[in-house]
This record gives sequence, structure tokens and C-alpha cells, in this order.
Amino acid sequence: MIEPVRDPAVLEGYLRDASNLRGEAELLFRPRTTAEVAEVVAWCQARAMPLTVTARRTSTTGAPVPMGGALLSTEMLATIHALDDVDAGVLLGEYQAHVEAAGRFFPPDPTSRNECSVGGAIACNASGSRTFKYGPMRPWIESVEAVLADGTVVHADRSTPLPWPVPQWEEPHVKTAAGLYPAKNLLDLLIGSEGILGIITRARTRLVALPAQVLTLLAFLPTRESLLAFLPVARGMGPRCIESFDRHALDLIRGRVPDVPAADCALMIEIEHDGEPPLEPWFDALVAAGALVDDTVVATDDSGRAKLHVMRHALPATVNEIIARNGVQKVGTDFAVPADRLGELLALYDAVPMASVCFGHIGDSHLHLNLLPRDAAELARARELYFELAKAAVAMGGSVSGEHGIGRLKVKHLALMVPPGVIDGWRALKHQVDPAGILGRGVMFG
Ligand SMILES: Cc1cc2nc3c(=O)[nH]c(=O)nc-3n(C[C@H](O)[C@H](O)[C@H](O)COP(=O)(O)OP(=O)(O)OC[C@H]3O[C@@H](n4cnc5c(N)ncnc54)[C@H](O)[C@@H]3O)c2cc1C
Repeated sequence: MIEPVRDPAVLEGYLRDASNLRGEAELLFRPRTTAEVAEVVAWCQARAMPLTVTARRTSTTGAPVPMGGALLSTEMLATIHALDDVDAGVLLGEYQAHVEAAGRFFPPDPTSRNECSVGGAIACNASGSRTFKYGPMRPWIESVEAVLADGTVVHADRSTPLPWPVPQWEEPHVKTAAGLYPAKNLLDLLIGSEGILGIITRARTRLVALPAQVLTLLAFLPTRESLLAFLPVARGMGPRCIESFDRHALDLIRGRVPDVPAADCALMIEIEHDGEPPLEPWFDALVAAGALVDDTVVATDDSGRAKLHVMRHALPATVNEIIARNGVQKVGTDFAVPADRLGELLALYDAVPMASVCFGHIGDSHLHLNLLPRDAAELARARELYFELAKAAVAMGGSVSGEHGIGRLKVKHLALMVPPGVIDGWRALKHQVDPAGILGRGVMFG
């Protein structure tokens, strides 16, 4: 059995995630093999000791934050075995770079890909901007090796039967990462289960050929109306992503990108192509939409695209810095709604009486409204506002989480969306695999 770390100074570095929620733990295990992971789980089970899986802690929901007991960090499970065979603790961005150097492509791209782990992204069924074309992590994972909460080591693929009954329910017909998937096999159950059913140690992925070339456009639009009118046109032109930034987000990135014009919003669009970049049809469409075409930034190569991505990535990171500086927790929406309700949701976001920044995956009608409370009183108000917005998004047929999951901070929002009978079914399932409830205690459904 590996020795746990007990030094509070070391443990301190593992107690918070990007939501800024802080927890506590007595022990930290850093296993190097699946067998060691299984030993740690068995050891904790024998003592009914809570065990929280922690990877890179980029979660925004408190999911990897321990509430006592032991932590299991996946950081030492860090080998890329083959192009399509990777340990859970490997950084997603590092894995993607490795695959791309061989001319292959692993499409899921959470904005945090250079900070988050492959296993964390699987456990959250993470998405990203390219989800518009390629979907979330789920379809790109062929199988996993995992240690279930009862200590059993499994190899799960889509032919692996479910060991327990799993509630079947109708997820909202939008991008969603909220709650347990109505899985028909063990692999699909583990993907997106936020570390409450088992610990993923290794994964086999599905790869495709690296797209030959990518054109990236950063286009500025004068009004909300022009944005909403242009969106269906842009979706129909088959890009791989459509990201948006509201005017507060543009204020934050001014200075990082030269000459950001006075615009209501901006769209970042990526288009895969062979040969000449399809500039003409896109500029025609932008002109027709009334976009500020002279200000459009065009990137036709990797380095130009990388500069725009740095800007895109700077946004959530800057928001996280602001909330950390204010000493509060993040209150950021992750709702996705049907495309025909997006304008309604944006109108509600506009009316929120608190400083905010809105950006995200508008191609999927999935935006992050980040409220920026300055103190504890505003934080409490922000949470009330958030709850009202969550109700509205659910009433529109949306999801309370398009990609970040539920964690500890969004448990009551999940209950707005999922029938109580289904949540009871999940509790019963969790009880079967983990009667003492040690793994990820309190995550997802309390
Ligand atoms: C700046 C920023 C941008 C982000 N952008 C996106 C985005 O575009 N799309 C998106 O989907 N998310 C995004 N996120 C959220 C976050 O990056 C993802 O959810 C990511 O998948 C978490 O990975 P991690 O390695 O940090 O896991 P952690 O945060 O450490 O853990 C997340 C959850 O997964 C569980 N877990 C971790 N590893 C395993 C494992 N091996 N087995 C079982 N359970 C495990 C943990 O217990 C916890 O419940 C962003 C976060 C930040 C801070």
C-alpha cells in the first residue's frame, strides 16, 4: 500500500478548484498504477473514509474539492502509451499535441485543455468550442480502464453491460453535461459521472485525420439583432466552431488584441478547409449581416490562430482571477438552450443587475454569463439571480449545465431539471456500487 502524504502544506495545494471553493482533507494518495488506485479505494472502503478524486482542479463546480477524508490525485498516471491509448492524468493539451504531431486529431477542446487532464475531461464529459462540429468527449472515447467505487478494476467499452440498473430518462435536447447519462453500457455511464462511481485510470480514444487547414475569423457585430440574424446563416455554412463575446468581454480583451473596435459583440469562427481559405463566402455573409468587416481579424495559419486562442482563453482565466481577488466563488452560468430560445435567454442576461461578462459557445446556444460579485453580500445575491436564470433556462427546454457538470455547487440546479424519481434512482445506483458513499461524497446529487 502506498504511503499517503499528510503534510498540511502539501495538501493545501489540492484543496481548491477553479470555483475557488475550499475544502479539507487529511490524506493525499498519488498512485502510479491502476493496481495502486485499487488498493487506495479498498483501503478507504475498509475505513468508510471519504475519497475524492482530484486531477488538475480546473472544475468550476467544486467537484474535485474534498470535504474531509482522503484525496486521490491522478497526476502520476501520466503516460501516453500509444497515439490512441493514454493515462488519465496526462494533460489533455499535451496529449493532443502528441497526436497532432503524428497527423492525427483528437477533437474535444475545452478551453482549459492545457490545464486539465484527459481523465478529468472524460469524467466531466467536457466540451469546448469544437463541440459544435464534433460533439463532447463521449463519442471520442472508445474504452476506459477504471477502478469502480467498490475497488473492482474494469475495462469498459460500449459492449460492457451495466452491472446495476441505470435510470433511463430523457435528457434535454440541447448540449448537456448535467446528471448521469441514461447509459446502456458501463463506458457511457462512467463518462460524465464526475468521479462518483469510479476512477478512470486509462483511456483508448478515437482519432481522425488532422484537418488540412483552418481559417479563423474574429468578426465584430454592431448589435444583438445583427448577431441573432447572422447565427443561423453561420451555422448553416458548416464551421467547426462559433464562439461569442459580449461587449463586457470585449472590454476585458482590449489591450490583448490590437484595435478591438466599438462593437456590441464579436464572433470567433473556425472553418476547416483544403486549399484556398473560403474567405469570399464568409465575407459576403458578414457584409450581409452588417458586420464591421474592415475590423475583421483573419488568421489562416497556426500561429495566427494561436494568438486568437490566447485571447479566448484569457477570458475565463481573467474572470477566475477577478473572483479569486474578490475573495468570492465563481457564479457563472453554463446553461444551453434550444437555438430558437437563445434571444430570450440573452435578454434575461442583459437584465441582470450586477457586473457580468458573457462569452462562450454560441454555436451550441451555450453561453457563460459570469457574474462578478465584489463581496459576500453580492455573492449571495448572485446566487439568487443564478437560480432564477436556471429556472428560466429549464423552462425553455434547456440544460442547467452544457459542459461543466454539477459538482458540489449546482446540486440544487440539477433538481430543477431532472425528475425526483430519476434522482432517487441515481441515489439507489450509487448505493449499490458504493454503500458507504465514500467516492465523491456530496457531488452531483448531494
Ligand atoms: C479557464 C477554464 C476554462 C474551462 N473551459 C471549459 C470548456 O471549454 N469546456 C468544458 O467542458 N469545461 C471547461 N472548464 C472546466 C474544466 O476544465 C473541465 O471540466 C475539465 O474537464 C476538468 O478536468 P480536470 O483535470 O481539471 O479535473 P478536476 O477539476 O480535477 O476534476 C473534475 C471532476 O472530475 C473528477 N475526476 C477527475 N479525474 C478523474 C478520473 N481520472 N476518474 C474519475 N473522476 C475524475 C473529479 O473527481 C471531479 O469530480 C474550464 C475550466 C477553466 C478553469
